[in-house]
Amino acid sequence: MPTPAPLIDQFNRRITYLRLSVTDRCDLRCAYCMPERQTFLPRSEVLSLEELHRLALGFIDRGVTKLRLTGGEPLVRRDMIELVRALGRKLGQGLDELTLTTNATRLAEFADDLREAGVRRINVSLDTLDRATFARLARRDSLPQVLDGIAAARAAGLAVKLNTVALKGVNQDEIPDLIGWAHGQGMDLTLIEVMPLGEIETDRFDHFLPLSEVRADLARRWTLRDSGHRTGGPARYADITETGGRIGFITPLTNNFCDGCNRVRVTATGQLYACLGGNERVDLRAALRSADPEAALADALDTAMRIKPLRHHFDISAPGAAPAVARHMSTTGG
Ligand code: SAM
Ligand code: SF4
Repeated sequence: MPTPAPLIDQFNRRITYLRLSVTDRCDLRCAYCMPERQTFLPRSEVLSLEELHRLALGFIDRGVTKLRLTGGEPLVRRDMIELVRALGRKLGQGLDELTLTTNATRLAEFADDLREAGVRRINVSLDTLDRATFARLARRDSLPQVLDGIAAARAAGLAVKLNTVALKGVNQDEIPDLIGWAHGQGMDLTLIEVMPLGEIETDRFDHFLPLSEVRADLARRWTLRDSGHRTGGPARYADITETGGRIGFITPLTNNFCDGCNRVRVTATGQLYACLGGNERVDLRAALRSADPEAALADALDTAMRIKPLRHHFDISAPGAAPAVARHMSTTGG
């Protein structure tokens, strides 16, 4: 049988990275991510474990080497570890890295299983170390579980990278302490600008904090040296001399990074979104459930390569603007 063609888009970008959402549900309600009363999808619409597995294998066959499981909160899905174990068997057989992004509330329970299945590094989202701020921001008093989860992951031998959304008037003053805490334990931390994805109760503009401002503030306190470190993603890095650690900056609003895009995202219902900041979409669930799933999936992936846009069109520069994309990050898979 001929080797399936690699995934190359109309701008000659090779797609080697899939972010696969396994659920849109979550046990937190981070205020910038989703409203308190979020309506979740009926379970019947979500891909089954077998479908998620088949889908992932289809991507690996087409040259995807890195797979990130996300959500929603991936660890609230009941059969999540089964999926991780099944996909872990592809490591070294086409797949180079299997990882996940989690809020860590249930990480203490699953850290050893993840490591055993072949996961080596994970991203944990942590916006504050202050319990009251956490409870306000995530609308759940879960900081102790999160910190236990991070400790358990490290004890299990998983490398943890922290992701922090920078929010004016929420965690802005705490960012240096968070970085100091992370670097003190040998964890890298990446800062992210809040993105206009899906309606929430408030206007994100009120809390939008350009990372150029954060960086200038950090540079008054510490020595920042630009780093050539790259992970194939949008983050740009700097080393901090005094902490001995690395800090990443993801700046979708203030600095476009789409030229080197190597990824696509698939929602828990099997919708492939060619860009986080766009509506270009292909229905992979329909392909999987068709009479000839293999051929239909191949066709759908070819279509995705034709419609992937050159860049996103986020704009958060004006108060009251409608979100660039109606989907929440928890739907597309962050
Ligand atoms: N629940 C998991 C977690 O929080 O790590 C995985 C999914 S979550 C949607 C993935 C990442 O998206 C988190 O780091 C979160 O902070 C970030 N995120 C969610 N909504 C965002 C938004 N509107 N702008 C920027 N980042 C956002
Ligand atoms: Fe849940 Fe992650 Fe969204 Fe927070 S950012 S509400 S943890 S999906």
